[in-house]
Amino acid sequence: MLAVITGGAKGIGRAITLELARNGFDVAINYNRSEDSAKALRDEAVALGVKAEIFRADVSIQDEATKMFAEIKSSMGVVSVLVNNAGITRDTLIMRMKAEDWQSVINTNLSAAFYCTQLALKDMAKARYGRIICISSVVGLTGNAGQANYAASKAGIIGFTKSVAREYASRGITANAIAPGFIDTSMTDVLKPEMKDAILKSIPAGRIGNPEEVAKAVAFFAKEDSAYITGQVLAVDGGMTMV
Ligand code: NAP
Repeated sequence: MLAVITGGAKGIGRAITLELARNGFDVAINYNRSEDSAKALRDEAVALGVKAEIFRADVSIQDEATKMFAEIKSSMGVVSVLVNNAGITRDTLIMRMKAEDWQSVINTNLSAAFYCTQLALKDMAKARYGRIICISSVVGLTGNAGQANYAASKAGIIGFTKSVAREYASRGITANAIAPGFIDTSMTDVLKPEMKDAILKSIPAGRIGNPEEVAKAVAFFAKEDSAYITGQVLAVDGGMTMV
């Protein structure tokens, strides 16, 4: 089975790619800027005994996403699993937020998931089989000062995922979201030490998560065994968002 991972070359996407490869999935690795990392990751995935290829596209641009899915199909075949992982932050307080800070985050974190899901669903519907997995965030559940754009995109992706789940449940296609907490990647590296300390205090597990812990949850939703689970949001957050 073939899995597409958007933003697959770095951070959480990289861990997801390797975990899916370890579970026997062929992997189509999307990247935008990180070509060297994508090439190295492709070689690592191939060494695990699966097919792996890299595809450059800015998935926030619909034409690029469309072209990429056509290339993936002609080169690797029909997509069974889509992981909408590509994401960015442009953090600032609402009163300072420029329209372009808002728009670029919504385009990358939310619109791209719509473009890619719509493209993947065409063949999934024909096959009457598919797994869509969207990477949201705990911030999409709770909101966060300084991240109105990011929180809106991550809350939006939850509504989107649940809608896909409802539309396609009868056709063997599941859609689930994962809401990671504070995970050790280049996205969180940039936070100031005092901010990291404050976040750590809010994590019952008392530590930052690692990308592999998110990847294990993605692999769970990607497998055939998870057929009766759809429209769910799974927090992978060390207990940050318990209710
Ligand atoms: P990261 O290390 O900064 O990686 C971001 C990835 O997104 C990169 O692979 C990047 O690809 C890709 N990307 C960004 N814009 C893209 C575009 N327009 N087209 C294609 N790919 C694009 O961040 P990360 O922490 O692994 O984040 C991965 C996902 O997890 C994101 O959706 C993020 O919001 C979510 N998340 C992260 C955390 C955390 O604590 N780290 C918590 C909750 C949720 P290139 O480098 O090739 O451009």
